Amino acid sequence: MDYHPIPPIFVADAPGLDFLNSVATPVDEEVDWISDGAGLLAWLAQAGLVPPAALAAIRAQATSAELDAVAAQARSLREWFRGFVQKRKGRSLSAKDLRELGPLNQLLERDEQFGEIVASTAEGATSFEFHANRRWKSAESLLMPLAELLARLVCEEDFTYVKACEGPRCTLLFADHTRGHARRWCSMAICGNRAKVAAHRARLREQKNG
Ligand SMILES: [Zn+2]
Repeated sequence: MDYHPIPPIFVADAPGLDFLNSVATPVDEEVDWISDGAGLLAWLAQAGLVPPAALAAIRAQATSAELDAVAAQARSLREWFRGFVQKRKGRSLSAKDLRELGPLNQLLERDEQFGEIVASTAEGATSFEFHANRRWKSAESLLMPLAELLARLVCEEDFTYVKACEGPRCTLLFADHTRGHARRWCSMAICGNRAKVAAHRARLREQKNG
């Protein structure tokens, strides 16, 4: 289904999982927000992962066939990593899980990040901050922030609380950061309400029949 009229979903509370959720079934049909190069650029902009100037430069330099090819690479990265998460969510990662992350480490090796000291002034006082930047040499460099998100998910997220939404036809994943780890839905707006309505209908049916 065409992704254009539908805003992408950022409800995972973990950017790496938001990337996995860039394909979803918000209503009846599956929507893939990175199904082509233009979609990938739009999704990266909405996720705030690539500076607007870098996106504009890449859009000006790359052909649409090149951008489509990068979007295809992003989709295979996403689906490969989905397999990793699906197999391990609900438990903490162990040392041997690292073996399967070889392809991600290979991708990270190509990253061209560099640091920069910038000054910021607030209330008359100047402080220096360390900023991470990245060289955006080609369309393929658009894969780098995605690889970083996935690496950070593995390193910083407790997989014990990585969950799949309980909505029967929902494929969304999220990190449950609630206090009692009681989160069950991608969002109240999408699946929580659907579940409430279904429960309400079931109660009505029981009352009628009973
Ligand atoms: Zn859901």
